[in-house]
Amino acid sequence: MTTTKEELYTVLLELREDYRHKVAQLESANVLDVEGSGYSNHQAEHASAFYEQTVSASALQAARARLRQVEEALARYDHGTYGICEQCGQEIDIARLEAIPYTTLCLDCAETRDYQARL
Ligand SMILES: [Zn+2]
Repeated sequence: MTTTKEELYTVLLELREDYRHKVAQLESANVLDVEGSGYSNHQAEHASAFYEQTVSASALQAARARLRQVEEALARYDHGTYGICEQCGQEIDIARLEAIPYTTLCLDCAETRDYQARL
């Protein structure tokens, strides 16, 4: 059975809900951390509070970035350009879209970019 782009659109809508929830949760967690931790002289306690704050801040950043990718994929779907590689203009393999529904690059272009990123 092959997944269709329509089905992937549904997957993207679900992902958007998931990440919206995640971002909202992390945002409220961050606010609580900032209010709760304060600045004490207890180094160990402070270090752990600081660590948790840093972790949730970077998790928030990651969730926001992912949410943006999902929203951009939905926008491309509306414009009829979903599943088309933004680098070379070829159709992205449906198996790749199944694995990463919000990807903007075909496998070849993604590998080329990863390769260049390592240089
Ligand atoms: Zn490509």
